[in-house]
Amino acid sequence: MADYPYQEVNEMPRCGSCGKLLTRGGLKAERLDNTLIFCSAKCLEIFDTYKAPKYGEAAVWPESIVG
Ligand SMILES: [Zn+2]
Repeated sequence: MADYPYQEVNEMPRCGSCGKLLTRGGLKAERLDNTLIFCSAKCLEIFDTYKAPKYGEAAVWPESIVG
């Protein structure tokens, strides 16, 4: 297990829309007073057009908040 190259799974952020683990990169966006991360522009669009209007602040997953 020495020099395991990846972060622990529970420390990695998840896409704010589809929940996919983001091992690197991702797309950051300010939403509902938080900086959220998404795996793609498509997922950000889904958040804006579906999740946020439907769920409001509950659409924000703690696992997707970065910085
Ligand atoms: Zn996604």
